[in-house]
Amino acid sequence: DELISQIAAGEVVERPASVVRELLDNALDAGAREITVRLSAGGVRLISVEDDGAGIPREELTVALRRHATSKIASLDELETVGTMGFRGEALAAINAIADLSLLSRAAGADHAWALDGRTGELRPVARAVGTTLEVRELFYATPARRKFLKTDATELAHCVEAVRRQALARPDVGFSIWHEGKLVEQWRAASGPELQLQRLADVLGDEFVAQSVAVDRPGGAVRVVGRAGVPDAARSRADQQYFYVNGRFVRDKVLAHAVRSAYEDVLHGQRQPVYALYLEIDPARVDVNVHPTKIEVRFRDGREVHQAVRHAIEDALAVPRA
Ligand code: ADP
Ligand code: MG
Repeated sequence: DELISQIAAGEVVERPASVVRELLDNALDAGAREITVRLSAGGVRLISVEDDGAGIPREELTVALRRHATSKIASLDELETVGTMGFRGEALAAINAIADLSLLSRAAGADHAWALDGRTGELRPVARAVGTTLEVRELFYATPARRKFLKTDATELAHCVEAVRRQALARPDVGFSIWHEGKLVEQWRAASGPELQLQRLADVLGDEFVAQSVAVDRPGGAVRVVGRAGVPDAARSRADQQYFYVNGRFVRDKVLAHAVRSAYEDVLHGQRQPVYALYLEIDPARVDVNVHPTKIEVRFRDGREVHQAVRHAIEDALAVPRA
């Protein structure tokens, strides 16, 4: 059972950034408005994610660490229309199998918080405001082979920051801060007002991104595509500002990548990299998010419909004449 847990964990957790992503998913699912990520040694020594979400009641704390324990879906049917980031109930169990995990949480309405030691299962009362803190120490301590494949702390930190950036771009209404070795690395304050998405894009990707891009907004139909797409000038061409979201989830997908490439073909002539942050909204019944444990891949029921919607949305925004 120990072995099975560790194998399953390997599928979910590749590096510290995978843990960061799962813990952020959970914090967002809990309705957090403010999330603080603290890291040490690129996340290998410590990853702590603190939120002001709904918290976990005492009687659910131990259950949360069990495999396939999820409070988010009650039946297989609900998988079709899952609206939360998590739903597999695997992350905490997986992380608990390969690291020292502790959970501090105070549910709304509770007198105080409880701390749960993932190793011993010991519960003790602690002081904390409503919300949850997950602390993950010494990742891969039991699997040195895995630990050996990790890169330098600086590289792992960069992956962790990128994991937060991906979520921050989808949730401008939530504040994020990242600390490394006690120093503030990034802070994106919760935005509000009609321009909150634009504000968040400027905060996270820079004013330059906004200046170099145009609004994409293709309403109607079964697939809606909004966001920004741009053509950087040659001197500033970079390949790392390409973000695609499906129903609020960051994804990598061949259909989407191809649609973007087709739209840009006549503009970039393959010479420069496009920059974009695009948000696709589609009926949840037309997309399957349960393809891979990391949930980064999706499968569309009708790939052609999505391809065309994305391509046309970008072409319209960039004013590319359509053949
Ligand atoms: P999943 O997110 O797929 O349900 P996880 O293993 O990530 O599975 O989490 C297990 C359960 O623990 C969740 O369903 C939720 O009930 C609870 N949980 C985890 N993190 C938090 C959090 N930050 N705030 C509130 N509840 C949480
Ligand atoms: Mg989860």
